[in-house]
Amino acid sequence: HRRLLQELKGKPTVSSSGQRIRLYANIANPEEVDNVLANDAEGIGLFRSEFLYLESEDFPTEEFQFNAYKQVAQKMGDRLIVIRTLDIGADKQVAYFGLDKEDNPALGYRAIRICLTQPEIFKVQLRALLRASAFGNIAIMLPMITSVDEVRRSKAIIEEVKTELRAQDIEFNEGIQLGIMVETPASVVMAPELAKEVDFFSIGTNDLTQYTLACDRQNQKLHQFADPHSPAVLRMIEMTVTAAHKAGIWCGICGELGADLTLTDTYLRIGVDELSVSAPMILPLRGVIRGR
Ligand code: PEP
Ligand code: MG
Repeated sequence: HRRLLQELKGKPTVSSSGQRIRLYANIANPEEVDNVLANDAEGIGLFRSEFLYLESEDFPTEEFQFNAYKQVAQKMGDRLIVIRTLDIGADKQVAYFGLDKEDNPALGYRAIRICLTQPEIFKVQLRALLRASAFGNIAIMLPMITSVDEVRRSKAIIEEVKTELRAQDIEFNEGIQLGIMVETPASVVMAPELAKEVDFFSIGTNDLTQYTLACDRQNQKLHQFADPHSPAVLRMIEMTVTAAHKAGIWCGICGELGADLTLTDTYLRIGVDELSVSAPMILPLRGVIRGR
């Protein structure tokens, strides 16, 4: 079995009918990049940048972040690396942010909401990301988006940072891609409008399932109600991909459901462009897509 998987290395991820899906890896730490390459991922579809914040005693500096992103960019060469901006709050808590205890943290002050309220924190990360984009194929992805307005406000802050960098003669990739996570029901409904604002979508099925089915993703008792194959969630995935393609942008899946091999045929039928999964799932998925 292992040997069969090894033989899939270097082979294209293409189905018997000629359909391609890009297979990317999810990482939460730069140290995982070696494993990503060992499993022949075609890119990184979700780099959860929270580790930089979770591992620190205080806000990580621009230089610290820049070095971490640059290291990953250099190791990945031409391959795309989608770095998600800060997604702190709810299930990911950090003391020095001084966040209030909330009754409903999953519905609370988190992720892009913190970044838009405290742009001084957001800008440090954006500067680090943009500077690192001079060293590899980095894309920026915004979490927990619910409206066009949030995307426009984020883009305005990104533009401010780019202007500052240009004024300081600091290099970055002028053509850097910007995408959003589609992980709230609102973003699925607004996908046609959101698709006009960004270069790509990545569906976060973990949160999308939680918010669609109104089931706390951490509550074990709800397993029988939080059916990941719920037709509601699958229909939302299809709606999102359709909206993306109508607007001419690509759409991937980076939540756990992307690695569900019983859904791979569904994703091929819907036309999902990219699946981002944990590194050990890359070759098994390639096997399924190629029909082994
Ligand atoms: C998701 O919500 O599906 C996702 C990929 O992000 P996270 O699990 O980090 O919330
Ligand atoms: Mg999420």
